[in-house]
Amino acid sequence: MNTVPLFSPTVVIVGAGHAGGTLAGLLRQQRYDGRIVLFGDETHLPYHRPPLSKKYTGDEYVQLLRPRKFYDDNDIDVRLDKPVVRIDRHARTVTTTSGNTTAYNTLVLATGAAPRTLSIPGSDLGGVATLRTLGDAGVLRDAVLSKKPIAIVGGGYVGLEVAASARVQGCDVTVIEREHRVLSRVASTELAQAIAEFHRDRGTRIVTDAQVKGFAGYEGQVTGVQLNDGSVIPCELALVGVGAIPNDSLAREAEIDCEAGIVVDGSARTNDPDILAIGDVTYRMHDTIGRMVRLESIPSAVEQAKHAAAVITGLEVPAHEVPWFWSDQFDLKMKMAGMVAPGTTPVVRGNADADSFAVFHLDANGVPVAVETVNAAAEFMAGKKYIANRTKVDPLALADSSISLREVVL
Ligand SMILES: Cc1cc2nc3c(=O)[nH]c(=O)nc-3n(C[C@H](O)[C@H](O)[C@H](O)COP(=O)(O)OP(=O)(O)OC[C@H]3O[C@@H](n4cnc5c(N)ncnc54)[C@H](O)[C@@H]3O)c2cc1C
Repeated sequence: MNTVPLFSPTVVIVGAGHAGGTLAGLLRQQRYDGRIVLFGDETHLPYHRPPLSKKYTGDEYVQLLRPRKFYDDNDIDVRLDKPVVRIDRHARTVTTTSGNTTAYNTLVLATGAAPRTLSIPGSDLGGVATLRTLGDAGVLRDAVLSKKPIAIVGGGYVGLEVAASARVQGCDVTVIEREHRVLSRVASTELAQAIAEFHRDRGTRIVTDAQVKGFAGYEGQVTGVQLNDGSVIPCELALVGVGAIPNDSLAREAEIDCEAGIVVDGSARTNDPDILAIGDVTYRMHDTIGRMVRLESIPSAVEQAKHAAAVITGLEVPAHEVPWFWSDQFDLKMKMAGMVAPGTTPVVRGNADADSFAVFHLDANGVPVAVETVNAAAEFMAGKKYIANRTKVDPLALADSSISLREVVL
């Protein structure tokens, strides 16, 4: 084990999640020899959240980023179950709930996001749940393995992933979506329609254009989701999956610039030169998209951890990657890159009925700005490259999957 002298420069990371945990490891890989203190408010070492919605019915849903030994061997001072409640920017310290104060030279905020909840009657009933942590996944797992009927409020990626695994276990599953279609904020109509069909074919009920007005209950436990039209969807577990809000209150209280999250530049810097921020909590400048965005994805959290590590160790900050994301539902391996923008033209390649296809979204110059793929790894790789290199393609050739991806380039 390395031993870092007590008075070495100190990086304090608040948030022992994917971004914070990755940064701590990267700093040591890049030979940072100061102190690293990683504060977490959960009781677990940093872990992977994607399995919580995809693999929660099996044993492999608990996946740590690194084993305890890694932090010990690399002299990373991990302080779990220690929420940081205050930043003093003048004294350059952070304080935890127990009143302990730790000084920093560089502070990195990696506090992630929290599930959005609904302030409607019955929200406090037992069995009305959200999904962000290992504990949340445990609740879901118990309900699904005991085959309880499940209602999922919100047809986003996480909700549909939970729905797919619950159906595989034989649960009665209803997805309730406020908009006209599922994945309305995050995917194109073409992709969303195909995915909704796929779920319906496997027995999931999908109710769209539905406004949830409350939860019905009996003896403190949820028994159904009440809709505005007077109907009630019976359930014993109601999962609310209506998005996440950035955990930026610590930053706001310290008067660090925040908008749709903590505002950072393309190198993870906030408006305080000693404070960086990374991961889901940030509202970041993204060079390949050309504007400020708040991304909630592992690739983005890891990319920003690399930016912060480079800033702290004095290395060159790596160029921005095309943002991408994945989702697994039933046997569908979905991968998306870029951002679907209004005014782009969708080009479908492959066969949605055969469960292997891609939707490319071309701008007015015929350059893909986004690609959404289902069981189509080659299309994903090619699409991501076209977006990065601003490669112009022939839409007619692209729509014909007998023409190779190399030949569609103009
Ligand atoms: C169910 C689920 C499935 C997902 N699936 C995918 C997927 O398939 N692909 C993908 O790319 N992304 C997926 N994501 C998103 C991905 O997990 C997040 O983008 C990623 O975890 C972000 O990392 P983060 O470190 O910013 O936040 P988190 O991983 O949320 O970590 C933040 C940590 O900071 C802690 N914290 C907050 N405030 C404080 C404080 N004051 N003091 C101390 N600690 C604090 C939080 O409790 C948390 O432990 C999924 C997310 C969920 C919830």
